[in-house]
Amino acid sequence: MGIVRHMSQFEPARLTVRLGAIGANYRECIRRAGAAAVAGVVKADGYGLGVAQVAKTLAGQGCDTFFVARLAEGITLRTILPRARIFVLDGAPQAAIPALIAHNLTPVLNSLAEIEAWSKAGAGLDAAIHIDTGMNRLGLPPDELAILAAEARGRLKNIQLKLLMSHLACADDSSSPMNALQLSRFKAALAALPPASASLASSGGVLLGPDYMFDMVRPGLGLYGGNPRNEKPNPFAVVAVLSARILQLRRVDKGETVGYGATFQAQRPSTLATVALGYADGLMRAIGNRGKGVIKGVVAPIAGRLSMDLVTLDVTDIPGVTVGDEVEFLGDTISLDELAAAANTAPYEILTSLSQRIPRHYEDAA
Ligand SMILES: *Cc1c(COP(=O)(O)O)cnc(C)c1O
Repeated sequence: MGIVRHMSQFEPARLTVRLGAIGANYRECIRRAGAAAVAGVVKADGYGLGVAQVAKTLAGQGCDTFFVARLAEGITLRTILPRARIFVLDGAPQAAIPALIAHNLTPVLNSLAEIEAWSKAGAGLDAAIHIDTGMNRLGLPPDELAILAAEARGRLKNIQLKLLMSHLACADDSSSPMNALQLSRFKAALAALPPASASLASSGGVLLGPDYMFDMVRPGLGLYGGNPRNEKPNPFAVVAVLSARILQLRRVDKGETVGYGATFQAQRPSTLATVALGYADGLMRAIGNRGKGVIKGVVAPIAGRLSMDLVTLDVTDIPGVTVGDEVEFLGDTISLDELAAAANTAPYEILTSLSQRIPRHYEDAA
């Protein structure tokens, strides 16, 4: 997408996306979700991995319900999956309503005002309602929930309520008291509203156990191979493999420095490998002097700051390294969690930052 490529062209960097692993991760969610349906969260271009390939892979596993954040993402997904249920988390701002209807998208209504506007937009349109149980981000706050509960018959009479949902703040931490608190608030909301399908769990919630499953779960990160909880091990298979090639090798004397700001100084005569990947590709600049690459299965530390297009590794201790060798920055050896920790961020940001400059390669396409 976006970049013209030719088969014969030397490819300095690549992102391999294992669609088979996405399918396996979806089946793992099904296994853990029990009787609950498993929707696929494919916002932000399928967490940066390519929404068309991701969504078709999930649909091939029987997934018929998807969540996106933006209206525009919903419109794109509708062209890929003409018949799927597509929920739009951003909701139904007045200006979005005609397009939501035209593309058969189901808004996740976030306020009484949106419920009212959507009710007036057509006769018996489908909708989800988002109840805020403690994120304090999107969804009906407690005062609006109380009004909706008291006046549900009137306020919901012109809506087909397809889903009541909420979102957990601390699902990555099974010991957090927030989980039980939000669970009880969600149950109270369900009891106060007309009966409808219910959904609370994202990837982290799927691992919290049967109390959190309700009728539908909404994993994202786990499908893409991320570990949704702080504890190990990760039950999900590696999906994204990021690698790049060595463009140049050099020997430097003890005392020489590397890169902008000269922040790395060789403590011994060293061999440096300059690799074709930089922060413009989405490799986080924060991993300068902290992160690593893997060459022929051996770990090499990053020396100095990342540049826009390049990163330098200290390969002094790895014999036989040559120009053109492939270096893994994310994949089977360096996990999303490990790269995210080196960059002081979350696996979500690592995936969604991978830029369109990196050619995507899809394995196991149907
Ligand atoms: C992003 C998102 C999800 C998916 O979360 P993961 O942690 O990636 O599984 C589910 N529900 C809502 C409301 C979201 O915003």
